[in-house]
Amino acid sequence: MAPPLNLALTLADLGWHVFPLSPRDKRPLANCPTCRDNPTCSGDGYAACPCIPAGQWCHGVRAATTAPERIRTWWRRQPNAVPAVAAGPSGLVLIDLDAHTDQLPADPATELLPGIPLTNDQMPGGIQAIRTGRDVLLLLARLRGGSRPWPTGPDHQPVTVTTPSDGRHLWYRAPRVENGRRLRQALGALGWQIDIKAGWSYGIAPDATAANGPYQVIAGNTAHVGCMPDWLADEVLRVATDRPVPTPAPAPAAPPASGSRPAAYLTTVIDNGAAELATLTDGRQRALSALAYKTGGLLAWSGLNRGDVEDRLVDAGLASGLPERLAHRIVHRALDNGLAHPLPVPQARKVG
Ligand SMILES: [Zn+2]
Ligand SMILES: [Zn+2]
Repeated sequence: MAPPLNLALTLADLGWHVFPLSPRDKRPLANCPTCRDNPTCSGDGYAACPCIPAGQWCHGVRAATTAPERIRTWWRRQPNAVPAVAAGPSGLVLIDLDAHTDQLPADPATELLPGIPLTNDQMPGGIQAIRTGRDVLLLLARLRGGSRPWPTGPDHQPVTVTTPSDGRHLWYRAPRVENGRRLRQALGALGWQIDIKAGWSYGIAPDATAANGPYQVIAGNTAHVGCMPDWLADEVLRVATDRPVPTPAPAPAAPPASGSRPAAYLTTVIDNGAAELATLTDGRQRALSALAYKTGGLLAWSGLNRGDVEDRLVDAGLASGLPERLAHRIVHRALDNGLAHPLPVPQARKVG
């Protein structure tokens, strides 16, 4: 495998926007203290930050570049950094298929492919045959892709990577998005154990090696990335585009219906909070922290999985323009805090 710097330069030369991750934990390398604590650096402020042109790696994925000099400077400072690729700036979408050994979702008929209710005869081999994100993508292909869901030929060949945890990464050219909407990350929204990395999200570079092992290319060509089949592009656009830009003065979010299940209640709280966060220019850190605190306070009651909830909250922070490390730190701390202070179970509202 190529040394990290050579790999980063090779990909950058092909138009892939790269940036360095920590060789220990696969997280973006830390911001300098000034950027970490400076609110004007958050959100779109990163564009004016002097650190990036000065050769610092502040602002993580937002600093991703194809400029060889900047890349050389980073890897001179940290030769073992793991190259990562910013999906959106590179014109790419990463379909990340996990192979965790989690038990199946509680209700596979509605949760394997959220938004696409399944019947038993649509799951050949039965639910027990479904183990991984790959299985779920194949199920979706069978439902949506017609008789020949995977067109052959180099124009449709994704860069296919095996991950150390037995997952697959499929790097595709990003489909065209209409109406000024933008692609964004979608964790688990397309299917169980399927994450879509798009916009300001990223993946480990194909052929890179991280502490947990190699990300080995087994098919495809980084110089000629294939397009998704149309049915897959439609599904990705369905779950991974921005909602329409919110109106300046949104009506107060409707309270979740009384009597709804705890998980649905908390999901609505998070969705409403995320929508509100997206409208803020000031006070986003405080709002994200308050939302994560409330979520933590209701988490045990809701039965939702902490990791999923944490991802959604960080996603909401990123979508509002907060830098990634900051969003992670705020969410992690406030969730911990909220978990330590469970909130009273929400009561159905009295009408009248
Ligand atoms: Zn900085
Ligand atoms: Zn900065």
